[in-house]
Amino acid sequence: MNATARMPAVFIGHGSPMNTLETNRYTEAWRAFGESIPRPRAILAISAHWHTDATAVTAMPRPKVIHDFYGFPPALSQFDYPAPGSPELAAEVAGIAKPTRVEMDHASWGLDHGTWSVLAHVFPKADIPVVQLSLHNQRDADYHVTLGAALAPLRSQGVLILGSGNVVHNLRRIDFRRPDLAFDWAERFDDDVKAIMTTRPGDIAQAESHPDYALSVPTPEHFLPLLYIAGLSQAAGKPARPFAEGRTMGSISMTGYIVD
Ligand code: ZN
Repeated sequence: MNATARMPAVFIGHGSPMNTLETNRYTEAWRAFGESIPRPRAILAISAHWHTDATAVTAMPRPKVIHDFYGFPPALSQFDYPAPGSPELAAEVAGIAKPTRVEMDHASWGLDHGTWSVLAHVFPKADIPVVQLSLHNQRDADYHVTLGAALAPLRSQGVLILGSGNVVHNLRRIDFRRPDLAFDWAERFDDDVKAIMTTRPGDIAQAESHPDYALSVPTPEHFLPLLYIAGLSQAAGKPARPFAEGRTMGSISMTGYIVD
């Protein structure tokens, strides 16, 4: 264990909750990522699925596993990821985020599938403490990028920062006949976000004025975790690098980014 190594920050495109139970080229890339880095002291997870009216952290020692989806097989509804929480990390996040106010959540949330569908592969033993950071649903892109950048000191304290969402995520446009393809608008947006993330990540808010933004990001929650990783990339003074690139079902981008 090396808690003092500078940890990478990563955005992972999580896609379907079924990725929890499946093995495919994305889950294999996530697993390889977990095996390639020093063991973190703790994980700060920023999931698309905790989009609420505050910036909050899970501050309980034993976060519950939330099965926040419907219509999937029982094996998924029963999936357990019994990682401990870390009240210490929750307090550290609140401290470094100042003057941004971070609420301490002791009972309402836990670990949602945006977090555990990915960590099931990155750290399958579920033995590293995990804290979730919520996405404030009444703040603009700059707020999220700035807050992401403020989290940078955690990387030098053994904390892996994980954003889990999807750059393109439009469930109304899903096309099951395109398992490994996307619509042209999804490809354009995914490509242009990649151009920003790999050259000038601090400008990620410009993606909101992209002509394909409305179709690619019909609701913001899956896109917002990327803004934190963009802020961390900017804070590190180096662009992010893409990994596990790909698109699925017409309207989902699975592309991830690593800052190391
Ligand atoms: Zn999701």
